[in-house]
Amino acid sequence: MSPEPGWGAAADSSKAVAAPDPAGFSHPDTLAVLAGRRSGGAELAPSLHPTTTFRIPSLEAGRRMALDPTESCYYTRNGNPTVRAFEEAMAELEGAEAARAFASGMGAVSCVILGLCSSGDHIVAQRQLYSGTQFLLQAVCPRFGIDVTFVDGTEPGAFRAAVRPGRTMLVFAETPANPRLDLVDLEELGAIRGPLKAVDATFAPPSITRPLDYGIDLSIHSATKGLGGHNDATLGVVSGSGELIASLWAFAILQGANAAPFDAMNGLRGLRTLGVRMERQSATALQLAEALSGHPGVAAVRYPGLVSHPQHELAKRQMRMFGGLLAFDLAGGNEAGERFVEAVRLAQVATSLGGPETLVTHSASTTHAGLTPSELEAAGIGPGTIRVSVGLEHGDDVVADLRHAADKATAEIH
Ligand SMILES: *Cc1c(COP(=O)(O)O)cnc(C)c1O
Repeated sequence: MSPEPGWGAAADSSKAVAAPDPAGFSHPDTLAVLAGRRSGGAELAPSLHPTTTFRIPSLEAGRRMALDPTESCYYTRNGNPTVRAFEEAMAELEGAEAARAFASGMGAVSCVILGLCSSGDHIVAQRQLYSGTQFLLQAVCPRFGIDVTFVDGTEPGAFRAAVRPGRTMLVFAETPANPRLDLVDLEELGAIRGPLKAVDATFAPPSITRPLDYGIDLSIHSATKGLGGHNDATLGVVSGSGELIASLWAFAILQGANAAPFDAMNGLRGLRTLGVRMERQSATALQLAEALSGHPGVAAVRYPGLVSHPQHELAKRQMRMFGGLLAFDLAGGNEAGERFVEAVRLAQVATSLGGPETLVTHSASTTHAGLTPSELEAAGIGPGTIRVSVGLEHGDDVVADLRHAADKATAEIH
């Protein structure tokens, strides 16, 4: 006797329901929900495979598995089923053939740079970069005999003009870029012939921009940020052609910055809600950028979605939404910046971005406190510059909190 009606109904194959097939549904927000379900099983949440190693079915198979970049059941530093599910999801989202996950965004960035370039090679990079990438290019690359030329990434033709035919191995860009949301024209960058082109698109996940659509060879993300989206996974990822990812794999397994299965699981969990999170954060960031633009204590607001952004037309061409990051300058300089971060009540003072909580940083007194005023200026940071990563709180609350903090920080000057 059946314990309950319906018990055992799954055994009736005439009523089988097909698993979803992402083919034909190409919007990144849809792929974020469907992609990376490699097991083909009935579970909807990702499975965690913490195992470091796997039983080898035969010696011959073991030899083949050890050298196969696509093998995920040999040894976890080479590949892992949970990590591979995240990699497959990212490749689908980016419109790429393959992807490789890393232990952090810097793991991904350093693998691209040191895995592709050798002594005697030349790199063209933009001046506006994440500080870790900047330091790697400026201080570490010369130690390995890799020559780097920095250009202004917002200047038309600047990357191409700096390429040395036959010597430039890599052109490295970031868009939107730290710290002032400068943009790089991806169409122009993608048209450069000769060197490989890599773009760090951490500020614009695939719901917003897909660099490979513009002829870029490698798209890089710190998935610690918006892709993971919950401040609970330290993770990086690089997407591109199968051939390029295989050649990065050969360096990555020696570099050893492989993604942890637990972080990959959280990353995959985060991806499922990418579309709605980006929409909410973009909407609130625009609302906030507009509100702060009209504030008497705010000298300037930088947000790609504002008509006042010098590259707003480019932003409209290559960004589906304008993202959750913005920067603004408080009139009143350093003192106002410090007062601002002390006055926020909803926003939290912390580095990183793309998570559920709205975060603010006053660069001049924290991350860049060691720099002189002229070094700060060269880095695009004013004494009163605040960077905001808009979270998932209600937009009205975020605007009220930051407006109130700006009132308090600049009360004496307006
Ligand atoms: C945070 C960040 C990185 C580094 O990522 P980690 O995961 O912290 O190593 C690289 N690029 C950009 C644009 C970032 O914001």
